[in-house]
Amino acid sequence: MQILKGLFQVGGDINGITFDQLGALWNDGNSYVLKTDQGLILFDCGCGDTLEQIFDNMRYWDLSPDDITHCILTHPHYDHAGAGHILSARGVKFISIGETADAVSSGDDRCCGYLYHKIFKPFRVDQLVTDGETLHLAGIDFQVMHLPGHSMGCTAYLFNWDGKRVVVSGDVIGTLLVGDFGWDGSIDFDKKIYTQSLLKFSKVDTDIMLPGHGLIYFHKPRFRVEEALNSALMQWR
Ligand SMILES: [Zn+2]
Repeated sequence: MQILKGLFQVGGDINGITFDQLGALWNDGNSYVLKTDQGLILFDCGCGDTLEQIFDNMRYWDLSPDDITHCILTHPHYDHAGAGHILSARGVKFISIGETADAVSSGDDRCCGYLYHKIFKPFRVDQLVTDGETLHLAGIDFQVMHLPGHSMGCTAYLFNWDGKRVVVSGDVIGTLLVGDFGWDGSIDFDKKIYTQSLLKFSKVDTDIMLPGHGLIYFHKPRFRVEEALNSALMQWR
């Protein structure tokens, strides 16, 4: 699915762009591709069992999987990073914040394999980023925003594309029909830290939000973050 010129959603099982198991709606987080003149940048890579579907979706848009140079991870959960070991073996370079890199390199319960009755196969992240850093990649500036809580590795990436301010937000907020926060079953879930992250994220204006699951928001995504913050403040105190 093309979102903007050169920006695509290529994975995600809630709307059936990819499909893992019957009845599964959360096995495959959303994954996105940015087409740059220096190669393809993938955001998150799904659970691994759907990688060929992601590749097929890319080929439909004339995007060769062989042209993926980098994969940027929003957090280490299985539905977002499970395919990492396969892509890494294909030579794709991984980028993430330290907490995510640490989790995927161990493949431990911070990666939530238990939730899917699957084993998370560990892999190495090649380049670490830090909160507040601007990542320069393929001629694009990505602002790194660490937003822990859903998992300690949660990170959003903000960049300008085709005249829009875009954020890839992972599971910091769920985006179904209203803004809501992400799943709270992670081993390293933390309500207090999550609420602080929502407060921080609620100050940020963007034009388009590409979430880890569900609907892409094309109008004032900040409103959805404020809704999630409101829910957290009411339910988690
Ligand atoms: Zn998650």
